[in-house]
Amino acid sequence: MIRWETIDTVLLDMDGTLLDLHYDNTLWNQLLPTRYSEAHRLSEEAARSHLFSHMHEHHGQLTFYCLDHWAEFTSINIVGLHEELVELIRFRPNAERFLLWLRNNGKRSLLVTNAHRDSLSVKDAHSGIVRLLDAHVSCHDYGSPKETRAFWESLMREHPYDPERTLLIDDNDSVLRAAAEFGIRHLFTVQQPDSGRAARDGLNFPSFNDFLEILPDG
Ligand SMILES: [Mg+2]
Repeated sequence: MIRWETIDTVLLDMDGTLLDLHYDNTLWNQLLPTRYSEAHRLSEEAARSHLFSHMHEHHGQLTFYCLDHWAEFTSINIVGLHEELVELIRFRPNAERFLLWLRNNGKRSLLVTNAHRDSLSVKDAHSGIVRLLDAHVSCHDYGSPKETRAFWESLMREHPYDPERTLLIDDNDSVLRAAAEFGIRHLFTVQQPDSGRAARDGLNFPSFNDFLEILPDG
């Protein structure tokens, strides 16, 4: 499926790729609307519609991923919500095994995430994800999300990579398209980012579900 001898750097998204997106979806689509409706004395439906229209407006922008922005917009302790759901933080099928395989086979691995540093810290404390990769980058370090060319340029400056010999795995189609435009040659997506939802079909990039599927046989 992947000709590993043609790849020396692997860029990995976190939420929905290495980690189960069920955690984030539960937080943003269920827990936050409930707490927001309680705090602002709104119906759950009104809370949802207010929050979701704001999400829609900021979709794909840095503010969408910024916990400080959401804490200010909602007057809710967003990091506190992250702590409440930590039992839902888990790796996707065979993600840890895949990361160990990369390390044992001399492939450089970089975590490239749109997640805010506070969210990354909570996830790392409960999964140990950071130490399994050679380096990690939050788009907030660069001031531009992965959906923009500026992100891939900044990444190139900090962690030079050969786009022809780089693989990006990400569950976000807009991110994959931005990376393709920048020239990253090998691109894969994930069929079921959230274990609580059905697998997706009609994807625009080659895809897999379990990381074992992309490892060489044996
Ligand atoms: Mg993702």
